[in-house]
Amino acid sequence: MPAFPATECADCGELYGFPVVACRDCGCESFETRELDGSGIVYARTTIRVPGADHQGQEPFEVCVVDLADDIRITARVLDNPELGPDDSVQFVEARDGVFFFEAA
Ligand SMILES: [Zn+2]
Repeated sequence: MPAFPATECADCGELYGFPVVACRDCGCESFETRELDGSGIVYARTTIRVPGADHQGQEPFEVCVVDLADDIRITARVLDNPELGPDDSVQFVEARDGVFFFEAA
């Protein structure tokens, strides 16, 4: 199963689920990638029927807020578009064009 590429502050170790410019805890601007277990739990979901310009023609698609290990909460697309609900398990598949893709686990 693919690992999730979290962003870790090189100074204080704060973890982020997305690229950051400066650490919100210590202000450090140096980061490393830390691979997390790619399994997550759905916190919330919605169906996108009117997408932004980058995703025209892909609608409708499912978007979930996913909780990963270490209290990281991210927004992700769901492959194959199952209608997932809160507490359903998902697995990281890949990051593409800055978007995280998960599938039902
Ligand atoms: Zn820091």
